[in-house]
Amino acid sequence: MIRVRFAPSPTGDLHVGGARTALFNWLFARKNGGTFILRIEDTDGARNTEEASAGILKGLKWLGLDWDEGPEKGGDYGPYYQSQRKDIYDAYLAKLEAMGRTYVEENGAVRFKFSRTSITVHDMVCGDVTFAPTEEPDMTLRRPDGSYIFHFVNVVDDIEMKMTHVFRGEDHLSNTWKHIDLFNAFGATPPTYAHIPLILNSDSSKMSKRDAGSAIEKSYMNGGFLPDAVFNYLCLLGWTPRTEGEVLDRATLTSLFEPGEIHSSNARFDMQKCSWFNAQYLRAMSPVDLFAASRPFLDQAGLVILDEPTAAAAIHSIREKVSLLTEIPDWIHYFFREDYPYEDDVLTKLKAKPENPALLQAAMAAFAAFPDWTEAAVHTAIEEAAKSAGVKTGALMPLLRFALSGQSRGPGVSTIAFLLGKETTIARIQRTLAL
Ligand code: GLU
Repeated sequence: MIRVRFAPSPTGDLHVGGARTALFNWLFARKNGGTFILRIEDTDGARNTEEASAGILKGLKWLGLDWDEGPEKGGDYGPYYQSQRKDIYDAYLAKLEAMGRTYVEENGAVRFKFSRTSITVHDMVCGDVTFAPTEEPDMTLRRPDGSYIFHFVNVVDDIEMKMTHVFRGEDHLSNTWKHIDLFNAFGATPPTYAHIPLILNSDSSKMSKRDAGSAIEKSYMNGGFLPDAVFNYLCLLGWTPRTEGEVLDRATLTSLFEPGEIHSSNARFDMQKCSWFNAQYLRAMSPVDLFAASRPFLDQAGLVILDEPTAAAAIHSIREKVSLLTEIPDWIHYFFREDYPYEDDVLTKLKAKPENPALLQAAMAAFAAFPDWTEAAVHTAIEEAAKSAGVKTGALMPLLRFALSGQSRGPGVSTIAFLLGKETTIARIQRTLAL
């Protein structure tokens, strides 16, 4: 039975590198019918905060990385916060003491006697990595203040929680021999490791917490991304599935996941590419789902939505024009207010041509004369108005778009008029004529 875990230290927001580590663990568990565990490594009281723990849980939930055991879920191997497992660590330390593998320093620190043999890590990503017998001083397990160090609690919990595989950041590879030395001392079989290369910025510098795109909540949840798109992009950041195309749903990614295919070189983060994925997912959504996903951003922009089906249709009509949900309010705000602003330079152009009011009058007359109000009928009315005014339909369209929306860009003019309805369409032309 496969058991994997994501074991973040809650020192800050969920970082994109951590999210990808969690993702690979999750994919491996889901593909193999295994168990995905969330363990919070919060033994560093000075640096760990409850706020950071909560943020990590929130980020994982948003990405859809549900855990089978861990905080809020419980499980047979809890507690899942290391800060609550001191008795277990004490018991394990006693085992090592009984075996004569520890000694106490004058200051009270308990140290582990390294085996000082050569140690090989069989890594699913990096291959076999052999460490020569160490010349480092023996490792402190318990500090004089009674707190335990990371390497010790990490290994004890991997034993206690029966981990079979460990996907984690490559920054831990150089210390893995210490972990294996501890596993061996306890007579436990180490898990199979997969050390995942780092994520670098597009300029090859190391990605830090302050870099664009690094924090799941700030950059993605609040930035107008869709969880499925971010999930998809993060999967491909360091792994190339054997298939055609890049836009792949969770089920496909899960079934294709092979740890041996994780790249052994560092991945390069590309915000534009991530936005491109978002655009693909956004376009493929149903009007209802897209509206639901956009809703928090519409509310944030202060748009008062009385008619949800119209709002959904309006958003659907501009879905090809945006990459992020945050861009949507700016494209559709005029559907929800009659005091919509007009773009300045277009207004100047509108007023500069003396024939424009007559063209708008013609359109208004054509609309008024049409009994039914379908998108096709609206289009026909515009064509007829253009014909009667002696201009091309293409000349009337931008003028009407501007009258109805105050904008020079947007969805098709017939779509705008259709969604606004006949009465509002006519009222808006009148408002524009009165400017
Ligand atoms: N708490 C460690 C970290 O956040 C976990 C290391 C591991 O996965 O073994 O880096």
